[in-house]
Amino acid sequence: MIVFEDVAKRYAGGYTALAGVSFEIRHGELVVLSGHSGAGKSTLLKLIPAIERPTAGVVRINGQDVSRLPSRAIPYLRRNLGLVLQESRLLFDRSVFDNVMLPLVITGHPPGDAAKRVAAALERVGLDGRGREMPAGLSGGEQQRVAIARAIVNRPSILLADEPTAHLDSATAAGIAALFKSFNSAGVTVLVSTHDATLFAESSPRRLTLAKGLLTEGA
Ligand code: ADP
Ligand code: ADP
Repeated sequence: MIVFEDVAKRYAGGYTALAGVSFEIRHGELVVLSGHSGAGKSTLLKLIPAIERPTAGVVRINGQDVSRLPSRAIPYLRRNLGLVLQESRLLFDRSVFDNVMLPLVITGHPPGDAAKRVAAALERVGLDGRGREMPAGLSGGEQQRVAIARAIVNRPSILLADEPTAHLDSATAAGIAALFKSFNSAGVTVLVSTHDATLFAESSPRRLTLAKGLLTEGA
């Protein structure tokens, strides 16, 4: 459950990226966040894992108010979230397997079980048997699948993705969109931003639309 109550975000320097945004996403929903470049999509997504803090209003994740969460509690919040953000770059100096393993290493997961989970996550995104390869040898779409595997390897209840199909051709983008739909069918709450109105269109998902920091559709 993701709840925004009258959320505003003003960056240092005074720029208002979000103003009075309120909505509720229930457990198990697939929601597409639309809007032009600069509309506030990345800002909205970053408020959920407390990468950014709201200037006003409340952000509640699974009942917990994360807008004023002490920093020591943030790792626990993020364990329940899968993030595929613009900043979520792969590490090019290590294998696909080690990239996907990273979140489990950070949380101190037992190595044997972690390896099984990584294999399962790679299989889930259509990359089984590709763990030994290096990210640089993969196509853009395959690299995005690795980033998605890394985001879901902790088995989060919520998956957030910021323009995950940017820079991909339309067939590859459709494959990535289908992957998000399949996680949603498996019970994961999915919030994904895109400026491509045709993506996800045939599954007619709920759409939240931002324009210049205001929610104009879907609240
Ligand atoms: P979108 O993801 O829809 O392109 P963003 O959330 O990235 O929109 O940006 C919304 C607005 O906030 C833009 O005008 C952007 O320049 C501004 N912005 C984003 N991040 C920062 C920041 N760290 N500091 C100042 N302004 C920012
Ligand atoms: P298994 O339990 O054998 O891994 P599942 O069918 O339960 O198989 O899940 C398939 C894969 O989906 C998991 O291995 C995992 O990579 C991925 N996954 C991650 N998080 C979740 C989640 N919250 N719900 C369902 N599947 C998830």
